[in-house]
Amino acid sequence: MTALPTDQTITDLLTSGLSACGVDTSVLEGSAASASLSARSPITGQNLGTIAADTAQTASDKIAAAQTAFETWRDVPAPVRGQLAQRWGQLLGEHKEDLAKIITVEAGKTPSEAAGEVQEMIDVCEFALGQSRQLWGKTMPSERPGHRLMETWHPLGVVGVISAFNFPVAVYSWNTALALVAGDAVVWKPSENAVLAALGAQSLLARAAAEVGAPENLAPVLIGGRDIGDVMVRDERVALVSATGSVRMGREVGPVVAERFGKILLELGGNNAAIVAPSADIDLALRGVVFAAAGTAGQRCTTLRRLIVHESIADEFVDKVVAAYKTLSIGSPTEDGVLVGPLINSASYDGMQAALKQAEAEGGEVLCGGGRVLADERPDAHYVEPAVVRMPSQTAVVKDETFAPILYVITYSDLDEALKIHNDVPQGLSSAIFTAELAESEKFLSRSDCGIANVNIGTSGAEIGGAFGGEKETGGGRESGSDSWKAYMRPATNTINYSGELPLAQGVEFL
Ligand code: NAD
Repeated sequence: MTALPTDQTITDLLTSGLSACGVDTSVLEGSAASASLSARSPITGQNLGTIAADTAQTASDKIAAAQTAFETWRDVPAPVRGQLAQRWGQLLGEHKEDLAKIITVEAGKTPSEAAGEVQEMIDVCEFALGQSRQLWGKTMPSERPGHRLMETWHPLGVVGVISAFNFPVAVYSWNTALALVAGDAVVWKPSENAVLAALGAQSLLARAAAEVGAPENLAPVLIGGRDIGDVMVRDERVALVSATGSVRMGREVGPVVAERFGKILLELGGNNAAIVAPSADIDLALRGVVFAAAGTAGQRCTTLRRLIVHESIADEFVDKVVAAYKTLSIGSPTEDGVLVGPLINSASYDGMQAALKQAEAEGGEVLCGGGRVLADERPDAHYVEPAVVRMPSQTAVVKDETFAPILYVITYSDLDEALKIHNDVPQGLSSAIFTAELAESEKFLSRSDCGIANVNIGTSGAEIGGAFGGEKETGGGRESGSDSWKAYMRPATNTINYSGELPLAQGVEFL
């Protein structure tokens, strides 16, 4: 364990990141007259400043301005719109370390993971540029002579994005790069726990927009908590709400958007599992499991939370996991070699402790971790040792997503049983199997009920080229790669008659 940085070190890191990204650091001084929000670093627990927040009225005004920008943007040819994604990606490349600094300060990620998050943004911008020339529709043969039948894709209008603290900017870019190329305007309500990273990302986008001549107010940011998110969710001008966060949030947001017949894309909590079969390459599985379970202090939607290991190798494998956990360096992500940073706040710590208590009450044995560290040095920061808990079966606590580093271990005797355990949770985001058996791997890929199913890699660390998202309580949305772009557009079926006659479909006669 290493010493924690001083408040001044964190402030310096933050202000250098903000300034380089083009954000005026006076933003941290808030405004007495307006609504406001406190920014905080989980590394030290210190208050970073007070940021002026939106009111319901200013949020509504920004949505109106985005609607106006959309009216211009929709008529810009898609490949020209692609230049905005391209320029944003270039600026993100130039300021990768700067934006990563803000992410580290605000979300507590290690510099490597924070830079990886910005790299995802750069990758999706490149993807979106390519996509701008591929917003393809199909043509179909018409049953009527002298007719042509085709499908064309059109922008939706204003897209509203709600994002979570743990990927404060990458998930925004998955939505935004594609939505902008699709011809939409984007209004973003970032997490109240990561407002500064949002301002950094948005400042670079605003600069890119000005440089390529995109209309003003094409992508405004709404600063605030759930109440401001709710204003956007209820606004009928917002054609699509793409919301990332907890299942609880999805349950609140989903019905409101459905009530007004808006479109919705939900990326909610996961409860991800890996099956380790007897034939697995144990060293490879070990690395895959430890990174997915303890990395980002267990605060990824794709974090490995359930290890389903064959009974014949369980003791040996679990001993190795516990031994690896004991070597993990916990502390400030600003220090070299630290792999496990802080939890986001005290509520997260309390949630972890409650889950561990419940696990023990349900027959679980804590094999390592769970305790708080560095509390004397920084009582307002929450560092924990990642925990491994052996469970007698998949009890109630295991079926819940606790957003902290707890890895539950369950054993199985045959693959059908493992698959049954695997699928028997309400969430369906990411999954993995470690095996050398082709038949096992194929069976897993067809039976896992998750949106992501991997073989011989862990549950976290997806690439942007594939569609990202999950089933069941995870919400069913898909973002980023593959044909996720279709979520930001609406298809129209067009029939063109050049026959000079008016034959009706299905041979219907009239007049
Ligand atoms: P959260 O649900 O507390 O908040 C997420 C966002 O939703 C925030 O911006 C918040 O202000 C907003 N929000 C909450 N309630 C709202 C409401 N009623 N109306 C409008 N907006 C509302 O989640 P969090 O703690 O920031 O993030 C952790 C959760 O997010 C975990 O459950 C994690 O699994 C999930 N997550 C999922 C994905 C994914 O892609 N599936 C990615 C990242 C995080």
